[in-house]
Amino acid sequence: MKVLVLNAGSSSLKYQLIDMRDESLIAKGVCDRISLGGSFISQRAAGSDEVRYETPMPTHFEAIKEILKALVSPEFGVIKSLDEIAAVGHRVVHSGEDFTSAVLIDDRSIVRIESNYELAPLHMVPNITGMKACREVLPGVPQAAVFDTTFHATMPDYAYMYAIPYEDYRQYKIRKYGFHGTSHQFVSGEAAKLMGTDQIKTVVCHLGNGASVSAVKNGKCVDTSMGLTPLEGLIMGTRSGDIDPAVLQFLMDKTGMTIQEATDYLNKKSGVKGVSGVSSDFRDLIAAMDEGNDRARLAIEMFSYRVKKYIGSYAAAMGGLDCIAFTGGIGENTEIVRELVMKDMEYLGVDFDFKKNRNVKRGAVTALSTERSRVSVYIIPTNEELVIARETVKLKP
Ligand code: ADP
Repeated sequence: MKVLVLNAGSSSLKYQLIDMRDESLIAKGVCDRISLGGSFISQRAAGSDEVRYETPMPTHFEAIKEILKALVSPEFGVIKSLDEIAAVGHRVVHSGEDFTSAVLIDDRSIVRIESNYELAPLHMVPNITGMKACREVLPGVPQAAVFDTTFHATMPDYAYMYAIPYEDYRQYKIRKYGFHGTSHQFVSGEAAKLMGTDQIKTVVCHLGNGASVSAVKNGKCVDTSMGLTPLEGLIMGTRSGDIDPAVLQFLMDKTGMTIQEATDYLNKKSGVKGVSGVSSDFRDLIAAMDEGNDRARLAIEMFSYRVKKYIGSYAAAMGGLDCIAFTGGIGENTEIVRELVMKDMEYLGVDFDFKKNRNVKRGAVTALSTERSRVSVYIIPTNEELVIARETVKLKP
């Protein structure tokens, strides 16, 4: 059975075709610059070179048509007919409180999904457009919405509530939801496999451009660092993460920024990019630090310190810790961050292998704790698309 996974952004549409018999990747690609002019599609079949060409894509509707054309292309396609696509899984950023797991897309569920668009308009609008376009182009093919938030739906109320008047939680649904759920689900699941049981207390550190930590106890998420929006929690590429909310008013008074501009400032101009003045990319930050740039050093240390604090607080929240898993572009590839995070963690029962941490084979599951360590530490490369495909298969009639 072949499942098409779609991830629609405001001007892009990423896709993967996965063979669920062995969960192998058949092809992946992206339509980019949708609605911006100069739009192009690039596709790479497993084991082949990338194929890339420009083609007009005024909306996501044309983009989906292009993807289907590319998948069945006689020249570089990977399937003979669209009938081979058994189901489609859509990444959807926000479930609100309406869903606690993935859902089959039909007229009713799409209305409920749309009712939450205000919680994340920038992502939800393309997500919904993508779902609608795909239903039109592939009628009769079962489609599922797999949310970024629902893995965190098991958080207890005292963890997800903000201390604001309760009526506003009820009326406006203002609370912590968390994101990167498919990644936290995948990585905590793989950690449980490695540990031989899911009756464990795991902290998953998903460290990419967007970054979040989650506490997973006995297979269920009990806390996570992102909030109503992805702005809360860790310091990220361009996001501030946790900050005194009074900074907003102060900043607006001092600079004349509007609330929209101040929110943009915290989302797009802050984080390691804002602190370092160099880049949001850790490769650039490390190069700058190595050349003696002290603000780059500061940004890397602030980032790592915040991760360390979350691990400690989640160990406290879960009443202990059995496993720490690093994932995401930074978690998987940036040894200095793992080193700074894991320094002085002996008090938690962690015996981290600092030498091994410096010689990690890219893209592989790697144990970074010693035999003696009470807490296991792993790098576990994430696979969000595979979770979307698996959830889709579960729902397929
Ligand atoms: P997202 O999916 O949120 O856009 P990724 O998970 O791809 O982000 O992570 C991007 C981050 O990972 C960037 O900061 C990048 O510098 C970092 N990264 C990727 N590869 C490496 C590497 N080889 N060494 C250091 N950092 C890396």
